[in-house]
Parts: sequence; C-alpha cells; structure tokens
Amino acid sequence: MKPFLFLLAFCASLFADAHILCYHRFDDNKPKLRHTNISSKKFAEQLAALKADGNKFATLSSVVTAIKTNKPIGEKLAVITVDDAYKSFYEKALPILKEQKIPFTLFVYVEAVNNKYKDYMNWDQVKEAGKYGEIHLHSYAHKDLTKLTPAELEKDTTEAMALFEKHMGYKPKYYAYPFGLYNYEVKQKLKSMGFEAIFTVDNGAVDVKSDPFSMERIAVNEDTDFSLNIKVKPLDITLEKATGDKIKTVKGSVSNFGGKTIKMYVAKGDTRVLELKNGSFETTVDMDKINSKKKLIFFTEDHRYRAKLIEKD
Ligand SMILES: [Zn+2]
Repeated sequence: MKPFLFLLAFCASLFADAHILCYHRFDDNKPKLRHTNISSKKFAEQLAALKADGNKFATLSSVVTAIKTNKPIGEKLAVITVDDAYKSFYEKALPILKEQKIPFTLFVYVEAVNNKYKDYMNWDQVKEAGKYGEIHLHSYAHKDLTKLTPAELEKDTTEAMALFEKHMGYKPKYYAYPFGLYNYEVKQKLKSMGFEAIFTVDNGAVDVKSDPFSMERIAVNEDTDFSLNIKVKPLDITLEKATGDKIKTVKGSVSNFGGKTIKMYVAKGDTRVLELKNGSFETTVDMDKINSKKKLIFFTEDHRYRAKLIEKD
C-alpha cells in the first residue's frame, strides 16, 4: 500500500465508531409497552436494514477490547445488546439471531431469572442463549442505582454476581446500568468491583474516546427512527475539571465537529447553545439546578452525541 493510502486507511479506522443497539422485549402484541418493545417483524427488518447499509455485526467484547486497548475498531460495526432477559427474547429474537449467525450480548436481570418471574427466561434458557451470544450482568434487583447507598449497591452486585457465577460458571465482565441510570458514585463503585466495561443508554456511537464505564448505546423500540439512529456519531469532546463550588465553570473543546455551536443539556428546560471558538467553549453551571445525575449531554445538529459527568476521575 502506498504510504498516503495507508495513512488514510489508518486514520479512517482509528476514528471509526460502532453502534451498540439496546433492545428489551420482542413481543408481537404489546402496544402498551412500545417504549421497551419491538415486534419480531420489525426487528428482522432492522437487521436487514443494517446489512443493506453495509454494517457488519460485531461481538460486544471485540468492540470493548479495541476501545480499551486503543486499537482501531473497524468500519460500520453494529452490536446487538438485549437487556433484562425477557422470555420474548428467547422465543422471538434468539431464533432470528441464531439463524442469521448474528452475535449478541444479553444483560441478565438476575432476580427475575432466579425467582422465575413471569415473562422472564429461566437459567436453562439463559445458558442456552450463551451458546450463541455473550451473557453479562444487569444487576440483581433492577433498581435505580443512583438511589442506593454504596453498601446497598455493593450488596445488590455481590448477590447478582454470586448467582450468575453459580448458574453460568464464570464471572460476568460487563454490566448494564438498570434504566441506563448512573452517576459518578455508582460508576466508581461498580468500576471498583472489577467490571471491565459498563453500558448506559446515553444516546450515541462508541469510539476510542468512549469511557469504558459509561459506554453509549442506542435504545431501540417500535417507534425509533432507526435510519436516523444508525447514523449518529460520537462527539469527541474533552472537558476540563470543572472549577468552583456552587457555580461551576465548565470548559471544554470539541475535535471532530467543524460547526460554530454545539448544544448542552443541563436539566429539564435548560438546554443551551454553546458558541465554539476554535473548537473551545466555556460556560457556567449552577450545581443546585443541574439534573440529579450531574450529567451534561452535548450534541450537535448533525447528530453527534456525548454525555459527560461533571465530576471527573
Ligand atoms: Zn433493564
């Protein structure tokens, strides 16, 4: 390969991104659950649309490994993830994925599986799904983790991991936050408990700049504008450590977007337009008025996204 072409290929792959899609239920007759459900027909159509658009299906572990080791993650990758372990996944989606040999990751809500809640898979079904995909953890009790004390979060996680290991025979490496909800304390606690990567439903694509402990996923349901969502891009944004007490100064810069402004979500009713000067911006945030997770969401008109916690490591 000529040096110039090599450089071009190298740059393209280094800045490549992957779309991690997040599904829940696959019932064909659940109109009331539209926000977490998709019919099997529509699911099959989405898989076909991804293929027609030139996407390749990747395992979650291959994408995580690439990101964590700063390796190129490849072009046009899609990753299928499924939360909770609903029976409809086993009955409707698994046969489609198996038949088309599409890899997937299932995040298990352990209490529901272990206590045989109606609508959920049992351990035998989870194990069988594990022959075709990767199986990881989605908490024990599926609570909003930001409302638990550190001791409660540790207990929930320890219990979930013990049951998971007992039935699956290995320790789960990855975790998906229930409802996608997290804050700085939750993230630090789970990180300290040994997970290699943790997944949100912060909208966006993942790339080398993604935080492995709050990886973006695109939540998909019956009403998702799928053709738009598979085009979302990561926003490469660097935030400095915010300074000040109640009123914090937030400074940052954007490297992969050439527009004049970006938007920043602070709280309900407070989404701002930030002016970029040579890619940099500065603003202030009142800590009494920021959303309860203390998470700023940055996005652009051309559908680049990235969420950042105001507290940093
Ligand atoms: Zn869930």
